Order: sequence, then C-alpha cells, then structure tokens
Amino acid sequence: MKKIMLQAIKERKLQLFFLIYILLVIPLVSPIAQNVPARYLIANIFVNAGLLAVLFLLFFFMTSKTEKVIASLLLFITLVPGVIFLAYLLFAHVLLFEDSIISLFETNPEESKEFVAYYLSPWVLLGVGIYAVIPIILICKMKRTKRLSVWKHKYLFLGCMTILFFSLSIERIAKSIYFVNFYRIFFEYKMRTAIEDKAIKERQTVPFAVTTTNSELKTIIVIIGESETRHHMSLYGYNRPTNPLLSKESDLLVYKDVISPQVHTIPVIRSVMSFADKKNPDYIITRPSLFELFNRAGYETYFISNQPFGGNYRTSYDNLLEQAQHIKNLSLRKKPDEVILEPLKKILTQPLVRSQLIVIHLIGSHMAYEFRYPVAFNVFNHRKDGKVKSGAPYLTDGAKTTIDRYDNTVLYNDSILAEAIELLKKRENPLLVYFSDHGEEVYDYRDFAGHAYEKITTPMCEIPFLVWIPDNYRRSRGDLCFDINRPYSTDDFIYSLSDLAGLRYDGYDDSRSLFSYTFKERERLVGDLSYESVIELTNRLAASSGHLHTGQ
Ligand SMILES: [Zn+2]
Repeated sequence: MKKIMLQAIKERKLQLFFLIYILLVIPLVSPIAQNVPARYLIANIFVNAGLLAVLFLLFFFMTSKTEKVIASLLLFITLVPGVIFLAYLLFAHVLLFEDSIISLFETNPEESKEFVAYYLSPWVLLGVGIYAVIPIILICKMKRTKRLSVWKHKYLFLGCMTILFFSLSIERIAKSIYFVNFYRIFFEYKMRTAIEDKAIKERQTVPFAVTTTNSELKTIIVIIGESETRHHMSLYGYNRPTNPLLSKESDLLVYKDVISPQVHTIPVIRSVMSFADKKNPDYIITRPSLFELFNRAGYETYFISNQPFGGNYRTSYDNLLEQAQHIKNLSLRKKPDEVILEPLKKILTQPLVRSQLIVIHLIGSHMAYEFRYPVAFNVFNHRKDGKVKSGAPYLTDGAKTTIDRYDNTVLYNDSILAEAIELLKKRENPLLVYFSDHGEEVYDYRDFAGHAYEKITTPMCEIPFLVWIPDNYRRSRGDLCFDINRPYSTDDFIYSLSDLAGLRYDGYDDSRSLFSYTFKERERLVGDLSYESVIELTNRLAASSGHLHTGQ
C-alpha cells in the first residue's frame, strides 16, 4: 500500500504543484496584509493545506483525462477570485473582507476603470499575468498516470469525499477557502437583493400610516456627498481655504462629531435610506424606507443622481432610491456635479403645492479626483502654497499633487452646496442637509489614498454634516433642538430627517434623532468596529508612521 502511494505521489508531481498553486499561494501571500490577525492567517493556511491533501488523494482515483478536466475546472473557478485577492494583496496589502467583495459585484465598469487606472502598476500587471499563466502550463504538462481502484481503497476514497463535503458545507471552514468564500458571498448577495426587491414592491400596497406634527409646506433638500472627509474642509479647521463660500453662510450649522456607519458607499446608503442597522439588517425588508415614508406623508419626492445608478449599473441600494416619485439620472453625462443644479432649479421654481423632499447623490470627491471638477477649480498647488507638510518619505511630489487634486474637489463641492443653498433661499420653510457618504484618507499616515474597510482609519469615517436652515424658520421650529456637538452616526439619519419634517409613524424613535430634545447618545459602530477602536487603530498607525495628519 505504502509503495503504491509513494509511486502515485511521484507520478503526480505536477498535479501536486498545481494544487499547491491554486490553494496555497493566496493563504501564503496573505501575511503581507496589514488587516488580518495572525491567528486567522494560520487557520487559513491550515484549512487550505487540508483541502489540498484531500483533493490530491482524490486525484489518485482519476484517469489522466479526468484529472485534466477537474484541474481545468478548478482553475476556471479559482482564477477570477484568485486574481482579485492577489491583486488586492499586492497593491493594497489587504485581504478582502465581505463588504469589499460585495462592492466588487456592484461597482460599475466606469468606476472600476478609474480605480484600476489609479492603482495599476507594471508590477501588479506582471504579477497577475504570471499568476494566470503558470497553472495553464502545469495542466498542459501533466503526465499520464495509473489510477487507483476505488473499490480496493474504498475507505480512503470515502474518507476524502466526506472531508471534502464537510469542508465545503461548514460555513466557518468554507470561509477560509478564498474562492469558496467569494462565490458564497456572491450567491448570498444575489439572493438577498432578489428578496429585497420583491418585499419592497409588495409592501407598497400595504397600509402604513405616516402623520405630520407640523402642517406648513416645506422644501427639504438632502445632498449626499462622496468620499469627502471633514479633515480637508476649512469649515472644520483644515489649513487650506477649501470652503470659502460655505464659511460665509450665517445660517449654516456645522456638526462637529458625526461619523458614517461604514466606509463604503453601498452599505452607507443602505443604512441612510432605511431603518436597517447592524442589529436589524432585515429592516430593509420589514420596514418602509426613507422615500416611502415621505411618499406616505404626502410629499413630492425627487431623486437626482450624478452617481451611476439603475439599468446596467444596478446596485443593492437602487431599490430604496427608486421609491422616489421623480428620478433624474445624470451620471451618464459623465460631468462634474454642477449638472445637478439645472434640474434642481427647475424643481425649485415650480410653485409649491405639496411639501418636497429632494435627495441628491453627488459624485463629489470620488477617485480619480482630477475628473471631478472643471478647470476653473484647479486651484491648489503645494509648490506655491507650501501647505502640504513635507517630511514623511511617502509624501512624494506625486502624492502631494494628489492631495492638491483632492482639495480641489472639496473646493468645488463647496461651490455646488453654496449654489444649492442660494437656489433654496427663494423657498419658504427651506431646509438643507449635507453629509458625505463616508470620508477618505489622503496620505495622512502612509502611502495610501482612498477608503477601504480593511485599512480603516478615522479620516475615512469622520464626515462633514451640515444643516442649513434660515434663522426665522429655525425660530419657528421650537420642536427641534440644534446642538452641533452631539455625537452621531448617519446610521440613524432616517429618524433625524423624519424629525426635521415632523413625521410620526409606528417605529419612530425620538431618541435617535439628532434634532430631538430627547436625543440619547448611542454606541457608534463603523462596520463591525466600535468608533473608539477605529480611533485607537488610527492613533497606533499615526504613532508608527510618526506623522499625525495635518488636517485638524
Ligand atoms: Zn462612497
């Protein structure tokens, strides 16, 4: 028996290399990720090595032809997840987590193009190319081998099949196998979206009472920015004048301590536009979403988007946004955010018959920054103003230029918001709320610009939150409390907006509204992490890089 086995192993050297390659390269490269504890990495290597042993033993029972077919099949299903995981490990030094994997399925082609253009280097390309070619060569070179009889070695065969079955069906084990995990998340995501679409459609005909506590006609604008961290806004103390217009607005309330519940657009928008939170993700299915509440309260609802949305670019928050009565998708024009002003003007010049809720989704400061503003806003130049502190080795001239460009997007955003406020001034009882979906790290502590949960720091979740309400209207709203120092997360935004409009319904919780007198501070989470632990992580990173960021 031993002799037969040794002979079988000897004959299948290439098969063994192939399996090591497919199953172990990613777990073995994973320690370069900065976001994963060693315990997890060791468990990963252990599980994948076990799977390798089982598959290798199963190869003994196959004919040469079947071996090649199974190996090709394995290559086919592992190649895409393998390339993605490896590329992220090589260029971003992160092992992808669930939310980021989901955002890969939802990212539209345009966005991916820009993302790839930003991060792509010849090394990444070379790595990915070599990664894909090696297993093909191995399969082609696999030699003809003698197979073992299943009947003679039935216990070995059955044992292998049982282990294989359990490692794929036990979730904790399956999660450690990168490609199995990738497909598991994909199918769960597809199923969840289908269930949500159906539930939202069905509940439209079910009665749900929404009343209002104040009857005057109002116009409420909610502008959701993109990737704007408050650390680059002069409204929050940044050392460059990135908010020249908004800082002149006397009726603007600048909330000092608001964070986002995640650092990726999709999970944030899903939280903001619905009651769903970490504890109750099913509220997307079981409770009405933001637009639905306002529709039921008799509002005219609008959604204007300069972010790809609907059609071929469908994401899992579309079903929430599509509940608006009027939808304008401007993203296909691929223009900076001023495109939202014309439709906004059109809405605001119509006579007010019913109260209006207008939600606008900007492209804001989305990577790649230089595409987000017109030439006139190409203002900041570190060579001239000397405002980007040098010293850190990663702050190369290129990195400083990126900071200049990011700051240009913030300056441009300032003008868009100021313009929207200007248009709204003509209305009676107007209200405008602006916040960014999440923030962005722009070379604050390391050679990195962007936002990724795997690399989370405070600039990625510390967002601007602004409320514009004219003084006279504010005084007439004695039911609202405006305390700019309250610690808040946009996770509870639906309660706050309901409160601003005076909406009341089953499930409304006054203690979760930022504007309520009965507001209670709650524990704030960013993904699965407490905000405090994100601060701690960031402080540790800042101490190790020796460079505290220059923003605030
Ligand atoms: Zn975003």
